[in-house]
Amino acid sequence: MVLSRILEVADLKVEFRTYRGVVKALNGVSFNVDKGEVFGLAGETGSGKSVTGLAIQRLLPGNAVIVEGRIVFDGRDLLSLKEDEMNKIRGKEITAVFQDPHTYLNPVFTMREQFRDILLTNDREIASIKDKREIEKAVHDRIIQMLTEVQMPAPERVIKMYPHELSGGMKQRMMLAMAFSLRPKLIIADEPTTALDVTIQAQVLELMKSLQKKYGTSVILITHDLGVIAETCSRIGVMYAGRIVETGTVDSVYSEPLHPYTQGLMRALPRADKDLKVESIGGSVPDLVDLPTGCPFHPRCSRAMEICRKINPRTLNIDGRIVECHLYDGETSRGRVA
Ligand code: SF4
Repeated sequence: MVLSRILEVADLKVEFRTYRGVVKALNGVSFNVDKGEVFGLAGETGSGKSVTGLAIQRLLPGNAVIVEGRIVFDGRDLLSLKEDEMNKIRGKEITAVFQDPHTYLNPVFTMREQFRDILLTNDREIASIKDKREIEKAVHDRIIQMLTEVQMPAPERVIKMYPHELSGGMKQRMMLAMAFSLRPKLIIADEPTTALDVTIQAQVLELMKSLQKKYGTSVILITHDLGVIAETCSRIGVMYAGRIVETGTVDSVYSEPLHPYTQGLMRALPRADKDLKVESIGGSVPDLVDLPTGCPFHPRCSRAMEICRKINPRTLNIDGRIVECHLYDGETSRGRVA
């Protein structure tokens, strides 16, 4: 394993047992995240982005089964850890920012009480203080410091508030302050700005970027919004039907998308710098209970060939870009098996 790597996900397969049958949510997801890197996971709803984020934290719902795969975080195989060992990593070394802070913030406690709880449970430095008054002072100072770092207006007043008294932008600043307060090695941010209006969205992303740089944190940014990834991430993985079909640097993927699905996502992206017509991808995402044979994108792909209907494309490495598409395979292409 490369020393600079914080996370390695290899051939991850996750299924959900439902009344409709077995939902094949992840069908062999593989990607790496380096230390201090912001990696974007993109794709339409139902492509498997959020399931990937939950699987890394081992927070999948009860009807989910990890069929196979490996998740190595900072040298430890997360899937082989006992629950109490995982508890020591989750919320400390790996933290999360969700789209809807309501799922995370408790409506009956003030922000101070909730933040205090996180620090008392997880912060080793604060846990080592013996004197009760010193503990409360350290907690208070850390909360105010973090709220100042996320540019929360009037932090001393805000900590006395309940979640419903905060605006959407303030809640997301609070989530960022909580997520970064324990200096985690990895933050999984799942659609952190989707519910916010455009101006607040830009402010929250800017804040996340500056905190990430300051603390050298690795971030997986999950979003359907390719504009957000372009502004925030260094690399991108494009998901479709529970697989990553293309991975590369943001610069290379945005300037020359290889996979027809990535090309479709790019055409659907409004671009101020280009006078291009915005086109949506025709058709709809496949039913994960009954995936098409061959390449799962073939029913929507304008470049589909006979082979695409029968055989799933291999994973190819094309000059450092990872892509799964028959167009780049075989003697006539520049592809090679990854
Ligand atoms: Fe389209 Fe075939 Fe490539 Fe799939 S493998 S994306 S169907 S060309």
